Amino acid sequence: MTDITNLLDYDRKSLENYFDEIGDKSFRAQQVIKWIFHHGVVDYPSMTNLSKNLRSKLEENTVIKLPEIVTEQKSEDGTRKWLVQLDNKNSVETVFIPENDRGTLCISSQVGCPLDCKFCSTAQQGFNRNLTTSEIIGQVWIANKALGCFESGKRMITNIVFMGMGEPLLNYTNVLKAINLLTDDLAFGLARRRVTVSTSGIIPEIDRLKDDTNVSLAISLHASNNDLRNSIVPINRSYPLIDLTGCM
Ligand code: SF4
Repeated sequence: MTDITNLLDYDRKSLENYFDEIGDKSFRAQQVIKWIFHHGVVDYPSMTNLSKNLRSKLEENTVIKLPEIVTEQKSEDGTRKWLVQLDNKNSVETVFIPENDRGTLCISSQVGCPLDCKFCSTAQQGFNRNLTTSEIIGQVWIANKALGCFESGKRMITNIVFMGMGEPLLNYTNVLKAINLLTDDLAFGLARRRVTVSTSGIIPEIDRLKDDTNVSLAISLHASNNDLRNSIVPINRSYPLIDLTGCM
């Protein structure tokens, strides 16, 4: 059995290609993306500027499938932490942190993490799998929904940080497509400087990211000398501090 296509796995360019491939106009991608990310609409019958024929074709061949919030914790300072179910085995955490001048959403990119940093609770659970693009961008969509942003039209999430579970640069392709949607005016339309990828220092992927997009980058050093960093951030043995500081 082949997996059914989830339209949330596409950024604008790849969705345009999809519509080309099914013999429709590529601008349908823009209409669908606006419905999903501007209006919060994820059911085809409500996408009234698509022809009935196209809506039934999409209904038959695709889904718009989001992860689900299973529990929510609210703090007095307004922080909201959601446990997000991805499938029947895997879940991740997504956290919204409101401040006076911004609202930051911290999102996950992997279930667990393979990098084994010694201070990290995620590392202790090992590595299960990469998140799909739909699961990454879906965290932002369901947070907007939970905060009532689609209904109010108010932007409460002004910043995104890839600082939840996982090393985002080890899930490069899916993270990049999610970044493209975060910064696309037809989707979430965030300024690039308001999207931050946090990495433990995967140098080849940092170089790749510089070529592909200009979002902000945060490098978690955790130590100021190589020996100490080797002992607490094992990836430092492959990409040592001296090379890492040279690539910034
Ligand atoms: S890269 Fe991040 S998530 Fe992975 S083990 Fe290190 S600190 Fe934890």
